[in-house]
Parts: sequence; structure tokens; C-alpha cells
Amino acid sequence: MIHAKTTEEIELMRESALVVSRTLGMLAAEIKPGITGLQLDRLAEDFIREQGAKPGFLGMYGFPNTLNISPNAQVVHGIPTDQPFKEGDVVSVDCGALKNGFYGDHAYTFEVGEVAPETRQLLQVTKESLYLGIREFRLGNRVGDVAYAIQQHCEGHGYGVVRELVGHGLGRKLHEAPEMPNYGKRGRGKKFVEGMVVAIEPMINMGTHRIRQLKDGWTILTADNKPSAHFEHNVALVNGKPELLSTFSYIYEALGIRSEEEDEFRSSPLAPSRP
Ligand code: MG
Ligand code: MG
Repeated sequence: MIHAKTTEEIELMRESALVVSRTLGMLAAEIKPGITGLQLDRLAEDFIREQGAKPGFLGMYGFPNTLNISPNAQVVHGIPTDQPFKEGDVVSVDCGALKNGFYGDHAYTFEVGEVAPETRQLLQVTKESLYLGIREFRLGNRVGDVAYAIQQHCEGHGYGVVRELVGHGLGRKLHEAPEMPNYGKRGRGKKFVEGMVVAIEPMINMGTHRIRQLKDGWTILTADNKPSAHFEHNVALVNGKPELLSTFSYIYEALGIRSEEEDEFRSSPLAPSRP
């Protein structure tokens, strides 16, 4: 069952999402050759708690850390380690926060120093597919419309769309109905309703869509060891249209990147200004 949110609940969810957005922005400035996932994890936990929130993933289903840190061929659910990142790595960081009873949950794939052009392209196309999917999250559409938009864009570039892991509804629970797959057919699946909030999160592989799991019971890797990318936003359906609750603008601020990619999804006068 889909839990539609009231206007007040959506504003609380925006604050939960922004706790995560600020945390990813703080991490963006730290992600350089030599830093480790465990160091990032400690920084993130402190920063989330300083904002009056709790880490959303810590202890969830038994996960041992605040962040999912998934470098290179790791797709998602990587456990932070003391292995330093090196020049040319890409690192997917997924972060959750719980504040006022609501979850924020989003992710960004960071470049460590200079990254190979074909890997940068994978990140770019995956992020483009996220916004193409978000554009389809509107009244009259269904889960399959978002899924189709993401799949078409990524497969059009020859990439593999992970099947086994999907986006989801978001709210008082980290994972609510409906499931939001990144592959599917137009016009199929659950109908979108006003006030629903979802996490849309393409997980896209440079090569095969097939994945495997490490013996740690968490880490998901590509079956062919080629790189993978993961970008995730939290989006509310407001006045029939998608409205972003999360933002990458703190990341872009830290990295000195100018971007207008989120502008069309900020219709609400209540939406916060950029940092
Ligand atoms: Mg996530
Ligand atoms: Mg998620």
C-alpha cells in the first residue's frame, strides 16, 4: 500500500533529505586519494548527529555502518573499509538519515582525482537517466514509465541496468511501497498518487547487468568487474508534478561545479534556496 504524505509530512521529509544532502556535500570535499571509507563513515555519522538526526542505515537489517561505500566494480551496499581510495577510483556513497520520524536516503558516485573518460561517461549517463526518470514521476503515470525512461537511456549507451535492486517508496520506513525498478514497460505497474514520496535510484553497470554478492552478505559487485554507478534522489509528487526533496547542490558547491539540472524540479515556493 502506498502511503501518501500530507504537505506537513512532505516538509518534514524535505528536512530529512537535506540532512543527507548536506552530509554528501561535506563528504565531497573530503573524497581524495588516500582517504578511506571508514574515515568518511565517521565524519558522516558525526555530521548527521550534529544535525539532530540519526544515521538511517546503521543497524538497519544489521548493517554495521552509517554509509554504504561502494568503489569501482561495487554496485551498492559496500561496507566501509580502511583501504585508501586512489586516483582514478569512482566511489558510490549512499547515505540515510532519520529525523522527526522520517527517512532521507540518497546517493552520489564521486570521482577520485582524474577518472578514465569512459568511466566519467558512465557516471554522466547514469545521472542523466535519474533526471529522465524523475521527469516521468507525475500524475497519470505509473512505475513503468519511470523505469522505461531510465532503462532506455542507459541501454542506449550499451550499459547494463541492474535488475535485482530497485528504488522504493520512502517515509516513516526506509523502504515503503511501491518498488521502483530501473527497467520496465511504459504504462505498467502501480499508478502514482499525489503526496507520494519515492527514492529513484538507477544502478547502472558499464558492462553486463549481472551482479554477484560478496561473502560478507552485503557487498554487491558487477559480475564482470567493470565499474558501476549509482545516483539517487528523493522526490515528492506535489501538484501532480515531481518535486525534489534532496539536492546535489551541496556537492556541486564543494566541487565548484555549476549545474541547472535540478531547477525544473523545484516548483514549490517552500523549496529551500541553494546553499
Ligand atoms: Mg540509498
Ligand atoms: Mg534507496
